[in-house]
Amino acid sequence: MIDSSLKQLSAALAGKQVSAAELATVFLERIERLNPTINAFVTIDRDRTLAQARAADERRAQGERAPLLGVPLAHKDIFCTEGWLTTCGSKMLANFVSPYDAHVVSRFKAAGAVMLGKLNMDEFAMGSSNETSHFGPVKNPWDLDRVPGGSSGGSAASVAARLTPAATGTDTGGSIRQPAALCGLTGLKPTYGVCSRFGMIAFASSLDQAGPMTRSAEDSALMLNAMAGYDERDSTSLQRPPEDYGRDLDKPLAGLRIGLPREFFGSGMDDDVRAAVEAALNEYRKLGATTVEVGLPNSGLSVPAYYVIAPAEASSNLSRFDGVRYGHRAAEYGDLVEMYCKSRAEGFGAEVKRRILIGTYVLSHGYYDAYYLKAQKIRRLIATDFQRAFEQCDVIMGPTAPSVAFRFGEKSADPVQMYLSDIYTIAVNLAGLPGMSIPCGFGAHGMPVGLQVIGPWFGEAKMLNVAHQYQQGTDWHARMPEGVK
Ligand code: GLN
Repeated sequence: MIDSSLKQLSAALAGKQVSAAELATVFLERIERLNPTINAFVTIDRDRTLAQARAADERRAQGERAPLLGVPLAHKDIFCTEGWLTTCGSKMLANFVSPYDAHVVSRFKAAGAVMLGKLNMDEFAMGSSNETSHFGPVKNPWDLDRVPGGSSGGSAASVAARLTPAATGTDTGGSIRQPAALCGLTGLKPTYGVCSRFGMIAFASSLDQAGPMTRSAEDSALMLNAMAGYDERDSTSLQRPPEDYGRDLDKPLAGLRIGLPREFFGSGMDDDVRAAVEAALNEYRKLGATTVEVGLPNSGLSVPAYYVIAPAEASSNLSRFDGVRYGHRAAEYGDLVEMYCKSRAEGFGAEVKRRILIGTYVLSHGYYDAYYLKAQKIRRLIATDFQRAFEQCDVIMGPTAPSVAFRFGEKSADPVQMYLSDIYTIAVNLAGLPGMSIPCGFGAHGMPVGLQVIGPWFGEAKMLNVAHQYQQGTDWHARMPEGVK
């Protein structure tokens, strides 16, 4: 059961081979046994989960037939969940119980999915290794001495360790794709605006986007069908007719044109990653695809532009955490200003403070034009690069991350080294494009490698088709880490 796809679980529930309550119990028991080692979940609540499962069983008994009805899954702790703790990986929100559900969470509830709990993450989604979480780092199920990636590290580790069949994540600069790559999963960041950000704690609003983290592309399509959709409570939510993201899964790939950005295949990528990516490209050629070199001449500026824009937005978004209305408040203070200062000094970790300082600086009078405005111009150039590249190809491919999962502590002392983990993913967020990571082999130390697939705007169904066809002929995505059996 723990190795079944969402489709198989859905069929087993429909065929009454298993009830939602039984299924939830199987996963809860695994979580209770393995989570003390992996630290992927920060909140579990057996009684509430089982109550949701029984409610799903009841809905089925009433004749309801939605594909995710009774299927267990878990949410990154950045999504507000009514009545449950929503910590965003921070001491600042360690005591915060949300009074409402995020839009994405309410969509899953309406679909009848059962929530197994809330997943660990880098504090306020700032990080690439999960080491910035207030609740301690998540372990990579493939090697407990290595990071799972971040910031959706709890989501990635929980799915890889079969603690949940699927999870939600969010991706501001790579936080779905990079942990998916490091843990051997399929992760999809949709086009900006496809999933509502309502109730998703904001990091950098113009970049943040929710998406599924699953074992297969087929499962990602099922998840995205539930998550996507217009929401009037998010002013950047797109009003588009509903789509079946799985509609093209079975289309053959003959004639597919794959763009290979020369900037992604230069130096910077480890040899083991390169070998796995090249092998995957050969697989695609066998499936009838052709490859063409494309240029993304401004992509080298994506990391610097991101580290102006994202902190700028974060410094504004995080100003709401002032110790007044919710979250951490210092125990002792003299006046109001001291209460703000002490609460924020105690509640935020070092990486969050670094971003607030950078963001405040680049937005300040006198530096705004030199940094923030400049970064916005670069952002436009990057989007235009992609637009031109997509005139020559249907999808773009390359590595998701420059290396396999690294060891704890290896990059945490040097923020710039950590920031470079997202060198291949960040441009996609800046351009608002959809991107995926799919497992394409194993590299050094037997760690998984991810292939990045980037689609044109609203190319989710195409990307899923491209990923699914590859997964029909390979089994990288089906491998299970030995240590967590
Ligand atoms: N690692 C990047 C950062 O720290 C991206 C994080 C994300 O996508 N949430 O900003």
